[in-house]
Formats: sequence, C-alpha cells, structure tokens
Amino acid sequence: MDADIVCVGFGPATAGFLTALSKRLVNPDGTPAVESAVMPGAPLQVLCYERADDIGFGVSGVVTRARGLRAAFPNLDPKDIPMAAPVTEEKVVYLVDPIGASRRSWTLRAADACIRAFGGLLPFEHEAVELPWSPPFLHKTGGLVLSMGQFMQWVGAQVQSTGTVQIWPGTPVSQALIEDHKVIGVRLLDQGVDKQGKPGDGFMPGMDIHAALTVLGDGPVGPIGQQLDAQFGLPEGHHTRDWAVGMKFVVDLPADTALKPGTVLHTFGFPEPEIFGFLYVHPDRVASLGIFVPSWFDSPMRTAYRYLQHWMLHPYLWRHLKGAKLRSWGAKTLGESGRRGEPHLVGDGYARVGEGSGSTNVLTGSGVDEAWTTGAQLAESVLELLKVNKPFTRQSLEDTYLKRRRASWVEAEARVAEKSRDGFQKGVVRGMVGMALAGLTNGRFTLSGEPVPPYKRIPTFEEYYRGRIPQEEIQQLRKECAIKGVSLHGALMQRCGWPAIPYDGQLLMSHQDALLLGGKVQAPPGYADHVIFLYPELCERCGTKICIELCSGQAIAPGLGGVPAFDREKCVHCGACYWNCAQPIPGDPERTNIAFRAGTGGLHSAEN
Ligand SMILES: Cc1cc2nc3c(=O)[nH]c(=O)nc-3n(C[C@H](O)[C@H](O)[C@H](O)COP(=O)(O)OP(=O)(O)OC[C@H]3O[C@@H](n4cnc5c(N)ncnc54)[C@H](O)[C@@H]3O)c2cc1C
Ligand code: SF4
Ligand code: SF4
Repeated sequence: MDADIVCVGFGPATAGFLTALSKRLVNPDGTPAVESAVMPGAPLQVLCYERADDIGFGVSGVVTRARGLRAAFPNLDPKDIPMAAPVTEEKVVYLVDPIGASRRSWTLRAADACIRAFGGLLPFEHEAVELPWSPPFLHKTGGLVLSMGQFMQWVGAQVQSTGTVQIWPGTPVSQALIEDHKVIGVRLLDQGVDKQGKPGDGFMPGMDIHAALTVLGDGPVGPIGQQLDAQFGLPEGHHTRDWAVGMKFVVDLPADTALKPGTVLHTFGFPEPEIFGFLYVHPDRVASLGIFVPSWFDSPMRTAYRYLQHWMLHPYLWRHLKGAKLRSWGAKTLGESGRRGEPHLVGDGYARVGEGSGSTNVLTGSGVDEAWTTGAQLAESVLELLKVNKPFTRQSLEDTYLKRRRASWVEAEARVAEKSRDGFQKGVVRGMVGMALAGLTNGRFTLSGEPVPPYKRIPTFEEYYRGRIPQEEIQQLRKECAIKGVSLHGALMQRCGWPAIPYDGQLLMSHQDALLLGGKVQAPPGYADHVIFLYPELCERCGTKICIELCSGQAIAPGLGGVPAFDREKCVHCGACYWNCAQPIPGDPERTNIAFRAGTGGLHSAEN
C-alpha cells in the first residue's frame, strides 16, 4: 500500500506531529491544502500505526509544564480533558527509612541520624522531611497533572475528527523498509503465526506500507528505533545506557483525603536511596503514584513491584493511602540518556521524534512536553517542504526539522541537562549535588561519572549480600525458589529485614492479583513472542537471572535448563527486561541478550 507519510507509534511525540499537521491539510472549503502524491486530487495520505490495543494504553500519569501542549491548544481548558488538573502544589520530600532494611551509605546514615536528632528544628514529621525550598528548574508552575492515557484518547479524537489522518491501534510495525540507506516505509507484523513466528492457520503476512516520509515516534524501547540504530549507528560518543523502570498505580483516594487535585509530590530516600517516587492528584479523589528504579541502582534486587508496596507503606504516604483502592496498574521504562542518547534524527525518508530521539529532559524528568514539541517541530518542517515541493531527503530534513529543533527550548534545556545525572554513577548524594549544580548553573558545572552498561554494574546476589547473608544461605534460598518456580528477591528481602506486605486486597495485594485486578493485560492470539532470549547458552550460565527478578508483569519465570520462560499473556511491554539483562551479546557490548521486538497486547487500560 502507498501513503504519503507513515508514523510509527501514537505517543505524545506523534500526537504533537499529527495535531499540528492535521489542522493544515485541508482548506476551509474542503479542498486539499496539500495534495497527495500517491492519490492525486486527494489530500495528503497520512497513516499512523500504534501497537497497543487502543490509543493511550500503557503510558503514564504525569505532571508537565505543558508549554508545547498549550501552544497547540491555546484555549485549552483542563476541565475538557478527563483526569486533568492544573498544578496547585508541589513538594519535594526526603523519606527516612522507618524500617532499617534499605542499603544506605554512611553519609546517608549520618544524615538520617542528624535528622532524627534535630527533628524538632526541621520540618520532620511522619519519618520524612518536606524540603523547605526546591530549585526553580524543578517547578511545574502553570503546568498540568494528566493521565496520559486519557489525554491521548482526547487528542486522538481531536486529530481523527479532522478527517485528514488515520490512526490504527492494535497494529504493530515490525520493521522499517530500507533500500540503499533510504527508509521507504514500514512493514506491519505478521498475523496467524505461532509463538516462534511460524505461519499457521489464518496466516497473513504483514503488509508493506510505502511512504515518502516515515515518522518514528516509537518511544524508548521501540523496535523500529532499535533497527535504525543498528543500521545507521549512533552519533560518535552517544549511547543509551541510562534508563529507569517506572511502575505505578492509579488509585481512588479515601473519601476524607486531604490531598487536593493538582498536588504533586516527589520523594527520594526510600525504599532504597536510589529509588524516586511520585504522587500526582487528579480530580475526583483519583491519584497516580509510583516509583522509578534507575539504571544506576547497582543491585540485582530490581523488583519495582515489591519496592512500590514498601514505598506506599512509608508513614508519610500511608497516612494518605490507607483506605485507598487500586483502579489500574502499569509499568513502562523511561529513556534517561537524554541528549546523549540522541540517534541520527533524520535521514533519507525518515525523521525521529520524542523520547526515542533523545528528547526527554533528564534533569527535570520531563518527557511529554518535549516529545510533543519535537513532533510539532517536524510537522512545521514537513509543511514547509511540501509547500515548495521538496523531497524528504536527509538534507532537506536537516535544513528544516533539525534547524528548528536545535534552535528551540527543547535543545537548550537538553544541553543544560546533558551531564546533570552523571554524579549518580558514583552515588546518590553525589548525584543529587550534581543535579542541583547543573540546574543552578545552567549546565556549566556538573559532577563527573561515566554511565556503564548494566552487565558491568549489576553485581551477583553473592556480591551484593556479602557480609549480610552467607553465600551458602543464598545458594539454599536459590534452590528453594527454583523448586517453587518463584523469583528469589522475596526471600532475600525478607531475610534482610523487609517485612511481609500486609495484604488488604484493595491496595496491597500480590503481584499476581495486581495483574488481574489492575493490570488488565491482554495478548491476542496469532502473534509471535516479542521477548526473545537471543543466546540461550548465556542464560544457562547467568547467575543473577535478573530478567526474572525485575519483570514487571511476572511474564518471565524460571524455565527449563536455566533458560527463562516467557509468557506473552502477562507481558505489559514495559521494556524493563531489554534494558536490564545482565549479559551482553557476543560482538556488541552495548546490546543485551534480550531482544524486544514488535508485539501486540500489553496493558489494556486508558487510565494509566
Ligand atoms: C512511569 C513514568 C512516569 C513518567 N512521568 C512523567 C512526568 O511526570 N512528566 C513527563 O513529562 N514525562 C513523564 N514520563 C515520560 C513520558 O511518559 C515520556 O517521555 C513520553 O511518553 C514520551 O513520548 P513518546 O511519544 O516519545 O513515546 P511513548 O510515550 O513511549 O510512545 C511511543 C508509542 O509507540 C508505540 N510503539 C512502539 N513500538 C511500536 C511499533 N513497533 N509499532 C507501533 N507502535 C509502536 C508504543 O506503544 C507507544 O504508544 C514518565 C514516564 C514513565 C514511564
Ligand atoms: S535474559 Fe539476560 S538476565 Fe535473563 S537469564 Fe538470560 S542472560 Fe540472564
Ligand atoms: S517481559 Fe514484558 S513485562 Fe516483563 S520486563 Fe519484559 S517487557 Fe516488561
């Protein structure tokens, strides 16, 4: 099939692109403002393929300054968007460890001791200190709290109501079509195949869509972005070694909650010093809350689910959450390399937008506004090129899109942020100081630290627990967990003093129950597995099996002969396994032993 423009993924980046483009494709009298090259006489033919079952499934609750969004919708009234609220209050909170089970450096232990000793002089209550001041670069004044799922559905409806572009959910793109270094379109995923991709009953090979321009907005773990990175390489010195796994709940707060819509809380310090937390309040007593487990958390215990529960139980948060009820649950990874992870943004026949193009601001943790704005910049550039009938070559896209992007606030702020997180490579305290330095000096001063791939930094359980748990005991626990077919982290955390979670069946529940109640995960039959263990022999030798410990959906479990087993029906497509695998593959030290390919299904809730 032929189109003029084909887009991969419908996230905030392509939403920004399609919003800006769709408004300008038809004249007020209904005639085409821009004529299609593939369907003469008709308006430009623009298609967008999204792999999730519907628009806005599986993204996240966010707070955003919304500069790009407000530019696109100058009369935007938050009341028009379900679950949206203007930001009313922002707090940054340091959580002291009330249990004594987290791994804290001596500096943090000393800081905690001082806080407890001089608690009367500090705003120290509920085992936490609300920072009396936070740097202005973190403020979201004038911004919005959004459910990205709800927002994306709202935008999708606006875009489609113009009648000028088509969005196809439930339609994963399996690969970019490349000819002589030029992207000439995309191929959709095969249907009617078994788990290994072998054709079966009702086999339908993925359709080829040829287009003059392919817009790539497939996010931080997009397989098409990965394909282009493998084909064209990354610019000199760039890499994507920094990321975080974000896991979150959407909850109904108790009827007597004191939290007002638009409240934004950011926490650090607990359940482990490296883990950041967030809580955003939507209207009608609904809140999005969760944690980020970052790449520089040098631990084989990367279980976001268990840590999220301990975080909710912290006295500072629990006084708000006791009596709350789970509505929806989800997980997604966030690319945190920022500008340093920027790929080649344009080439013949393609342009990249959004987080997969390195747009996320790693200093402020803000990605939506940036992704949206890069999409809008590309739309302006495309319209400019179409007007003068110029083809979408690398040169013409550099002269328009790249130029706009480099001259914009997205680029200026990304440069300030570029090295702001490097300090975290050598510890949390150093990391926080480095961020503050970078933010307060506009990026002129930072603290150094070289990001390294996961396999170089994730210790084995034996190394991590040296001095705390005898090696023989770890071996014994490992054997017992293997027999039961469960991951090891529960047993090890319990051994280190983490208390059992007091399940209440409405907010605190087993991972499995959260999957059933809040995850709403689906996987239509007839598609191949999208998580692949590339070299099974590496898995056989792998001591940490971190893919099992961290899997957000319990979709990876102990398997036969030491090779994990993958269950597509539980996978939420968060991408955490792809980033976290503890083994590089032969010949490419930047790639792990897990391939994350295009796939259908995943989260089935637009509240996420
Ligand atoms: C837990 C969490 C909390 C966050 N909080 C904030 C916040 O408070 N503020 C903020 O500004 N940002 C936040 N972010 C970051 C923000 O969500 C991202 O920066 C933003 O969503 C990036 O937009 P995008 O369009 O580039 O990519 P994405 O949102 O990742 O969208 C990419 C889309 O492409 C689709 N796709 C991928 N592969 C294919 C394929 N092969 N075929 C078809 N479709 C495909 C995906 O399903 C997805 O819908 C958060 C992220 C997480 C994970
Ligand atoms: S996928 Fe990676 S982490 Fe998992 S067992 Fe294999 S090598 Fe180890
Ligand atoms: S298997 Fe699926 S749910 Fe599990 S970590 Fe990988 S992408 Fe996430």
